[in-house]
Amino acid sequence: MTAQREWFEKDYYAVLGINKDSPAKEITKTYRKLARKYHPDTNPNNASAEEKFKDISAAYDVLGDESRRREYDEVRRAGPSAFSGHGGAGSQHFDAGGQDISDLIGQMFGGRGSRSRGAAGPQRGNDVEASITLEFVDAVRGVTTSLHLTSEVQCQTCSGSGAKPGTSAKRCTQCAGRGVVEEDQGPFAFSSACPRCSGRGSTIENPCRSCKGIGTEVRAREVNVRIPAGVDNGQRIRLKGRGAPGRNNGLSGDLFVICNVVAHHLFGREGKNLTLRLPISFTEAVLGANIEVPTLDGEPVTLKLKPATQSGSRHRVKGRGLQTAAESGDLIVTVEVVVPKDLTKQERAAIEELARVSTESVRSHIH
Ligand SMILES: [Zn+2]
Ligand SMILES: [Zn+2]
Repeated sequence: MTAQREWFEKDYYAVLGINKDSPAKEITKTYRKLARKYHPDTNPNNASAEEKFKDISAAYDVLGDESRRREYDEVRRAGPSAFSGHGGAGSQHFDAGGQDISDLIGQMFGGRGSRSRGAAGPQRGNDVEASITLEFVDAVRGVTTSLHLTSEVQCQTCSGSGAKPGTSAKRCTQCAGRGVVEEDQGPFAFSSACPRCSGRGSTIENPCRSCKGIGTEVRAREVNVRIPAGVDNGQRIRLKGRGAPGRNNGLSGDLFVICNVVAHHLFGREGKNLTLRLPISFTEAVLGANIEVPTLDGEPVTLKLKPATQSGSRHRVKGRGLQTAAESGDLIVTVEVVVPKDLTKQERAAIEELARVSTESVRSHIH
């Protein structure tokens, strides 16, 4: 029962570096700060950071929960010395009620790994968040890719049972495996989650050494994800059941993937439409032109510009935007008239002649 004894032998306040009377808000704030600092994602291949991260998480598991924190404080106040003396008078004292020390601790904390004492039955796993960087084309078309992340996974050593390999969880003696106990209170009978097994119906006598009985461990893993067509920069995709494993046969949490989409050198996005800025010459704008325009799927299309096409005008190429099961977008082409810079002698003469014969006033409306 060494693993369980660690629970109260460890000074969780010291682990987080806070005072015993720190308010809950401060505990959470400190935990978040430390968790960010020591998260395996920020410290790849750093065993000591990973160990520290586990310690911080374990400490917050208890101190972050008001009722568990109170119980932890009580146990520590009762005197850890009474618990740490093996076989001495202290332990005799605790055997008096027919329960050994580990039973007492198990009751105090509802067994290792349960997130809240008295929460009967299965517990859903945590949600996990990860980010991915996508090429523009992949975001538009959808892609299957692999994602590397570090998160809680089922413990490899015990396959998530929390019991040392070769041993298994034992049926709880207090509730006979039912997970609930009845209490007679006058005319009423209440049933509540069994305090010994926190409603699991079983207890672990020999906790797994790798995960200390929790059934999960923090490990780097690779996840294959299908990114649907049409995701936008900053969009969060939910992958159901791909988060951290549940406890006590609970469902797994979800994996949220935040998509960072790399900008394309030509195309942009406006919802389901793709956008493109198309430079045209002064003469093309004046006289009109048929201009070959690139599309994202590689096959160019011809855009017909009428005479007197204005700079900044938008032209729609149907069906060349995002194509998803739900919608079909267009390609929106914005033309930009480019003013020529390096004129040849001949061009200059022609334009000077144009200026001389020009009669249209472009600013008539502002006079
Ligand atoms: Zn394990
Ligand atoms: Zn029980």
